[in-house]
Amino acid sequence: MTISQNKVVTLTYKLSDHTTGETIEETTPENALTFLYGVGGMIPEFEEKLADKTAGEHFDFHILAANAYGEQDPQHIVMLPANIFHDENGAFDKEMFQVGSMVPMSDSEGNQLRGRILEVAEETVQMDFNHPLAGTDLHFVGTILEVRDAEAEELAHGHAHGPHGHQH
Ligand SMILES: [Zn+2]
Repeated sequence: MTISQNKVVTLTYKLSDHTTGETIEETTPENALTFLYGVGGMIPEFEEKLADKTAGEHFDFHILAANAYGEQDPQHIVMLPANIFHDENGAFDKEMFQVGSMVPMSDSEGNQLRGRILEVAEETVQMDFNHPLAGTDLHFVGTILEVRDAEAEELAHGHAHGPHGHQH
């Protein structure tokens, strides 16, 4: 069976920075990635590169940043007033808000986003809301473990079930 629309694919992969070779993420057979193919849940070019492969096949390709998580956008680096990070006693939580910390926030429309703290000053906090992998060319190597037909329930839910998929 080959990878195509509405198949459930299980694979292992190692993701590294294509430019530096640094490993970003690595899966094992025990925590393999299972996903429903062709429903838009993955990076589109990631799916394109896997099309027509079968169980047991290896893959090795890279995806430029622009086609993955996008380029770094300087407009996503913002200065926020330090007082929004104050606790109910008006104190800045130095433990939680350190340079490099990822902070879950929501924007004025209620969208959830995560920002990384770049700098903490007396009155302001500089935060980067770019995706952590923005600006990174991604290199994937891995192996297809299984390709199967999706079950009706999986198609209805729009995601894969099973040990590595959604469990509910
Ligand atoms: Zn489901």
